[in-house]
Amino acid sequence: PYEVLVVGGGPAGASAAIYAARKGIRTGVVAERFGGQVMDTMAIENFISVKETQGPKLAAALEEHVKEYDVDIMNEQRAGAVVAAEKTEDGYIHVELESGAILKSRSVILSTGARWRKMNVPGEEEYSNKGVAYCPHCDGPLFKGKKVAVIGGGNSGIEAAIDLAGLVEHVTVLEFADTLRADQVLVNKANSLGNVTIIKSAQTTEVIGDGTRVTSLKYLDRVSNEENEVELAGIFVQIGLVPNSDFLKDSGVALSPRGEIEVNAKGETSLPGVFAAGDVTTVPYKQIIIAMGEGSKASLSAFDHLIRTPAP
Ligand code: FAD
Repeated sequence: PYEVLVVGGGPAGASAAIYAARKGIRTGVVAERFGGQVMDTMAIENFISVKETQGPKLAAALEEHVKEYDVDIMNEQRAGAVVAAEKTEDGYIHVELESGAILKSRSVILSTGARWRKMNVPGEEEYSNKGVAYCPHCDGPLFKGKKVAVIGGGNSGIEAAIDLAGLVEHVTVLEFADTLRADQVLVNKANSLGNVTIIKSAQTTEVIGDGTRVTSLKYLDRVSNEENEVELAGIFVQIGLVPNSDFLKDSGVALSPRGEIEVNAKGETSLPGVFAAGDVTTVPYKQIIIAMGEGSKASLSAFDHLIRTPAP
């Protein structure tokens, strides 16, 4: 069994693993995809002390740093369930992998991050990466000189529109509600740009393509009840991040109404010996540097727990 088992190999998980391994205790990391969201990121300019880097470069550095220590990395493995120590016969916390394997540990750090929310309309899946995108930083340049839409009028949607406006011919922002949730300063900025149109009360209903690429988007005007079609080449979906916490449903780990793992200032969850860090938690502001800080904190808390709790 492990002393510390980290579930998730993004910035939070990598940081947690290094802090645990540096205590000389048996540490494992199980990750569906080592590097996490950082792998989907282009330029990173706010990782303090590193003026500019790229996601895959930072992800490789994370892995290299973890590998400096005696850590079992189990990549391309998905956790399907967590069973509390009080419910297992051997007294260890069990992490059940979808492969069927069961990993046992005295403490567990959950750092499974988050993913972009989907629209769930016809055509979205079919045209994903064929015009439907979730990451303006990664895919924006692919639509240079073309027409695109941004779905969602929150901060990320309006930020994406401002960002894309400098690259593409025209950006149409579609917001479901009759008001924008983005900060006024961002809305003012978007409105000041000549090639951004913001449409409110607009429900996206279908992504249309020619079989290989997106060609247009249909939306319902929720006031007039009219269906409209916008010709475009790209659709950036910016309707929020969903925490990767589905596998915890029956675990007893308390989740917020949004599905985020509830943690206290020490990174403790509602289950003894189970800690959490990064984008999957209730800690606000989902950023690399925050996820790393939270990961190290959860790891130190796990160590604190281990020295106060007898082994099973
Ligand atoms: P993640 O990075 O999401 O990592 C989660 C890990 O858990 C992954 O290894 C994943 O495979 C694994 N996992 C998930 N479910 C399971 C499971 N069931 N079993 C096993 N493993 C699982 N932040 C910045 O600070 N600066 C930026 O410039 C920036 N740009 C961004 C651009 C994009 C396009 C995106 C998507 C994000 C960006 N972010 C940026 C945010 C930043 O990437 C995240 O805040 C950060 O990666 C969160 O780290 P994390 O470790 O909590 O989660």
